[in-house]
Amino acid sequence: MISVERLSKRYGGHTAVNDVSFTCAPGTVTGFLGPNGAGKSTTMRMICGFTPPTAGTATVHGVDYRRLPNPGREVGLLLDAGAMHPGRTGRETLRLSAQVMGVPQRRVDECLDQVGLNAVAAKRRVRAYSLGMRQRLGLAQALLGSPRVLILDEPANGLDPEGIFWMRGLLRDFADRGGTVLLSSHLLREVEAVADRLVVIGAGRVVAQGSKDELLAGA
Ligand code: ADP
Ligand code: ADP
Repeated sequence: MISVERLSKRYGGHTAVNDVSFTCAPGTVTGFLGPNGAGKSTTMRMICGFTPPTAGTATVHGVDYRRLPNPGREVGLLLDAGAMHPGRTGRETLRLSAQVMGVPQRRVDECLDQVGLNAVAAKRRVRAYSLGMRQRLGLAQALLGSPRVLILDEPANGLDPEGIFWMRGLLRDFADRGGTVLLSSHLLREVEAVADRLVVIGAGRVVAQGSKDELLAGA
């Protein structure tokens, strides 16, 4: 469960996020939709405590993300797949994360399998990865701790159509097992097939939210 209440963020005179409220319930995929610069990343970063809000609150399972007993295992994050260390192999990247998170090393191969990064790919350095491969690795990293919540910022960026189709199945399955997913995109077609609910943001404000069927019927 993710709850965002009247969240705002100002940078100097610029309001990046303006009075945003929504909730994401277990068993659902929420598509967070809006053009580049709308405030999606800033909102997601505030939910995870990486960016302090100017006003408002965000909680995961009813508490501040940073107060979760074990945030890394409770919430799987994919915030910037482009920012992974270029000099490590995919497998080393996950091994290190598993170590930091206190997750058994066997999860590394399980998660690599789950995202379809084979042994050959896992031995290559991240600098040689396409953006789509980085997204797969980022998703594997997010899944390492067997979290109940996934927060994914533009995970479909750089994925090919087959990759988007595959990820859709993975996220649907995750939610159908009771997980909570918040998934951002600037493209409706990337979220419409998998999302149950949509939160549409423009220039920092929520312009529409509701069930996908409800919203798309009116579109
Ligand atoms: P989105 O993820 O929807 O593309 P962002 O949350 O990245 O949007 O950005 C929202 C707005 O906030 C943009 O105008 C962006 O330029 C601004 N912004 C984001 N981060 C910063 C920052 N660290 N300093 C100043 N402005 C920022
Ligand atoms: P297991 O859970 O399989 O027992 P270990 O943590 O004992 O895994 O490590 C198994 C192998 O992986 C060892 O050879 C170790 O050097 C290597 N290893 C462990 N942690 C890391 C890491 N963060 N990065 C790269 N290699 C690692």
